[in-house]
Amino acid sequence: MPIKVLSPEVAAKIAAGEVVERPAAAVKELLDNSLDAGATQIAIEVQGGGVRLIRVVDNGAGIPPEEADLAFERFATSKVATTDDLESISSLGFRGEALPSIAAVSDVTMVTRSRDELAGTFLNIKDGAVLQKTKRGCPPGTTVTVRNLFRSFPARLKFLKSTATENGHISQIVTQYSLASPEVRFILIIDGRTTFRSPGSGSLREVLAVIYGVENAKLMLQVEAGDESEDPLLPQVTGFVSPPSLTRATRSYMSFFVNRRWVQSRMLTYALEEAYHGLLMTGRHPIAVINIAMPPQEIDVNVHPAKSEVKFRHDREVFGALQKAVRATLLAQAPTPTLDTLHQPQPASASFTERLIMPEPTAQEAAVESSPPTQPAAEPAARSLPILRVIGQIANMYIIAEGPDGMYLIDQHAAHERVLFERIRDQRQRRAVEIQGMLQPVPVELTVRQQELLELQAEALAEYGFEIEHFGERTYLVRSVPAMLQGQNVAQSLTELLDFLGEGAKTDWGEEIAISLACHSAVLAGQALSQQEMLDLIRQLEGTSQPNTCPHGRPTTIHLSAAQLEKGFGRR
Ligand code: ADP
Ligand code: MG
Repeated sequence: MPIKVLSPEVAAKIAAGEVVERPAAAVKELLDNSLDAGATQIAIEVQGGGVRLIRVVDNGAGIPPEEADLAFERFATSKVATTDDLESISSLGFRGEALPSIAAVSDVTMVTRSRDELAGTFLNIKDGAVLQKTKRGCPPGTTVTVRNLFRSFPARLKFLKSTATENGHISQIVTQYSLASPEVRFILIIDGRTTFRSPGSGSLREVLAVIYGVENAKLMLQVEAGDESEDPLLPQVTGFVSPPSLTRATRSYMSFFVNRRWVQSRMLTYALEEAYHGLLMTGRHPIAVINIAMPPQEIDVNVHPAKSEVKFRHDREVFGALQKAVRATLLAQAPTPTLDTLHQPQPASASFTERLIMPEPTAQEAAVESSPPTQPAAEPAARSLPILRVIGQIANMYIIAEGPDGMYLIDQHAAHERVLFERIRDQRQRRAVEIQGMLQPVPVELTVRQQELLELQAEALAEYGFEIEHFGERTYLVRSVPAMLQGQNVAQSLTELLDFLGEGAKTDWGEEIAISLACHSAVLAGQALSQQEMLDLIRQLEGTSQPNTCPHGRPTTIHLSAAQLEKGFGRR
C-alpha cells in the first residue's frame, strides 16, 4: 500500500481506542469532566456493562451554548491554552480528547446549561459530528449520555469481558473517585439498581466506611500532614492507612491520588509498604488511601492518554515524604497487640462474650496505653508458633496453652480458619480439591447480584469443586461442593459466599473464595472442644505458613510472655 494520510474518521477511531479502552475508561473521562466543572453531585448510570448505556449527570458549571459543539472537536479544551499551561496542570482533563474520542466510537447526546443561561443546550452527536443542536429546559449542569459504545468498532467490542467484569471496572472507578473527592456525592446505578452511594459529607472516613465497611473504617489511622509540610513546595501526604492488624492478601486495597488524580504507581506502592516494614507478615498488604498534594509543576501527567500515570520531577522526595508520614502514623497510633492492648476492639467484631472477658481498662491503664509504644515492633509479625501444650478452653472460644515462654490464648475460630484456608488454597493450587458430590442436586435461588457474581466467578468456583448448573430463571442446581463444606447447609453456604464476593472491591477472587470457605467451615466460637480436638487444631495451626493471623488478618493468638506475667503479678 502507498503511504496515505488516514481519513479523519479512521484517525479519530485510532485515537479513540487509546483514550476509551473499555466502558470504564469512558466513565472515568466523564467523571474527570464533571469534577473539573466543579460538580458536587454526580450520578452515573450504566446498562449492559456500559456498552448499552453510560449516563453521567452532574451539577457542575455547564457549557455556554456557543461553545457546546466545540467540546466535541478534537483538541478543543477550556483547560489549557499555552505550552506553559502544560507545565502546571491543575485540572484532571487537559488533552481535549475525551469527548471527541467517546463520540467517535458511540452515539452521544449532551444536555448542558451554565448557571447564567435560562435554558440548556441539547446536542446529538453521531459518528463524531453534530446532527442536532436545540435549546432544551434543564437544571444547571451537564448530562452526557453515551449509547452503543464500540458498535462501530467491533474489534474492540470483541475484547470486552462479561457485563459483570465491565461493571466491576466501572464500580472500581467510581469508588476510587469517591475516595479522591469525599465532598462530592457520587451515585452509581447499574442496570437500574443503586449499587454505590457516597455521602458527600467531605469526610474521607465516611467514604471508607461505605467501601470497606464501618468496622474497618473505624480502625483506619489518619495520616496527617507533618510540620515540614508547611513548605508549599514539598509534597504533603494525608489520608488513611490500616493498622498492622488489618491487612489484605492483595495490593488492590491501596489507593493513591496525586492532586486528586487517581494514579497507579509502583513507586508509591513500594514507599507505602516500606512504611510497614517489619509490621506485616509476608504476603499481607495494608489498606490505604493516600493523597499527595504538590505543586503541579513538580509532576508530569501528560505521560499517557488515559492520564493514570504521573512522573515526579523529584521522585525520591515523594517516596521519602510518603514513607515517613505513614511510618510516623503507624508508630504513633498503632501499638502492637500485647497484654496492654488486650481491651482494644479487634477488627470485625468484638462479640458480647469477648467484651465480658476483656473488661474495660481503668482510667490509669487507659492513660498508659494511649502513650506511644516504646518499642515499635514488640511482636514481630511473621513468626512461627512454638510447640504448645494445651491446658484447656475458656468460654468455649479460646484455647489456653503453655509454650516455652509463657501463656498463649488461641482464638479457636480464627485458628481453624487459618488452617482450612491454607489447606483449600493449597489443594486448589495443586488442582486436587477434595470434592463432595450431592446425592440429590440442591436447588438454590439467587438474587440478581448473586447470579452476576456466580457467572463472573464460574471458573474459580469450579476450581474449588463447585458444580453448579443453571436450572431456570434465577434457580441453580448444586451438584457438588468442596468437601470442606460437608455437613453445612449448601444453599446457605453458596449464597453467603456470593454475598461475600460482592462486598467491597475484590481482585484476587480465587483467594477470597478460599477465605470465605474457610470461614464457613471453621469451628465456631462457642463450640465446646475436646482435649484431642484442641490438640489437633493447635498441631495443624503450627503447621501453617502464617499461624499468627486468620486469613482476614485478625490475630489467632495472644501471647503473654513469662516476663509479662511476672510483671503483672508484681514479681518484677
Ligand atoms: P478536556 O477535559 O481535556 O478539556 P474533553 O474532551 O473531555 O477535554 O472536554 C472538552 C471540553 O468540554 C472541556 O474542556 C470543558 O470545557 C467542556 N466540558 C466537558 N464536559 C463538561 C462537563 N461535564 N461540564 C462542563 N464542561 C464540560
Ligand atoms: Mg476531559
